Amino acid sequence: MLSLIKLPRVFTINQVPKVFHEDSIISGYRHPRSSATDCILSLFQLTNETLNIWTHFLPTWYFLWKLVTVVLMQPVWQDSFTWPLVIFLLSCCIYPLASSCAHTFSSMSARARHICFFFDYGALSFYSLGSAIIYSAYVFPDKWVNSFFHQCYIPIAVCNAIISTNMACYSRFPECQSPKFSKCLRVVAFAYPYLFDNIPLFYRVFLCAGEGCTDNDTNILHYNHIALAFLTGFLFATHLPERLAPGSFDYIGHSHQLFHVCGILGTHFQMKAIEQDMVTRRSWLLEHSIPITFSNSVGAALLCVVVNLIIIILYSLPLLSAPVCQEKKCGKGSKKTSSKVPCC
Ligand SMILES: [Zn+2]
Repeated sequence: MLSLIKLPRVFTINQVPKVFHEDSIISGYRHPRSSATDCILSLFQLTNETLNIWTHFLPTWYFLWKLVTVVLMQPVWQDSFTWPLVIFLLSCCIYPLASSCAHTFSSMSARARHICFFFDYGALSFYSLGSAIIYSAYVFPDKWVNSFFHQCYIPIAVCNAIISTNMACYSRFPECQSPKFSKCLRVVAFAYPYLFDNIPLFYRVFLCAGEGCTDNDTNILHYNHIALAFLTGFLFATHLPERLAPGSFDYIGHSHQLFHVCGILGTHFQMKAIEQDMVTRRSWLLEHSIPITFSNSVGAALLCVVVNLIIIILYSLPLLSAPVCQEKKCGKGSKKTSSKVPCC
């Protein structure tokens, strides 16, 4: 019965246009003009994207289950204290879902690939804002609660998320001409909001001394999350282990799969830590912290979603209006590549 389903063939790096190339991945590429059906079929065929898809698709359901549990078990609509948790869990569902969809459909065309990853970047920046909203509500150390920094923290995080989406989407445009510059831009686009959002947590667990440091049992979970977050960034930036042995990790064990797994584990520990902080600090925070309002929770999240969507549309328009370059293969004569449109 299975033999009746004809799975699409896979290609080597030299058989697909440069825009589809992955650093040190030699084989397992899908057809660069795959149909949507072929893309879905590739979930059940070992290609260099298969585990990228599954490592984010399955965790989407885990975080969705957590979100549904919170919404069903807690009086979310009446209790504004739980709103940041709901926003954070929503962002934890959206970013792996957007990523698994991007990895699934990225082989439909060069244009589809860029647009798919624009959504992936927008979802990641929304997750960074989700983290900031939840940190502001439950994680800030006692000492910093209600400080000037605490008051400015969410507006700055919203700006950072928007800048991050913008930078990450832009990074795809110079990709063919200067891949290193493009990669650097993308690393900065994700590292910068992460580092800013974690300032209160880093201060709390690494620097704070004396009273008001919120030195509780939750810190060990925060350490796990921070360690995994740095490992995630390291894997993304270095392309290890495949850079040491190009072609050996094409299907299983390459850096992007490990990056997905570490990212999800990090998010899991982050969620556990935050839930614990939320429960143990609830009464103190309700008494001393900035009240959780529509504008510093749901409103900020909605603003980020709307602006991110506008950015994605603006970056997608030049691609949609430039059909010529979509089919062009990169190679010795592809001099006409425009810096305005990422095609090669
Ligand atoms: Zn990915």
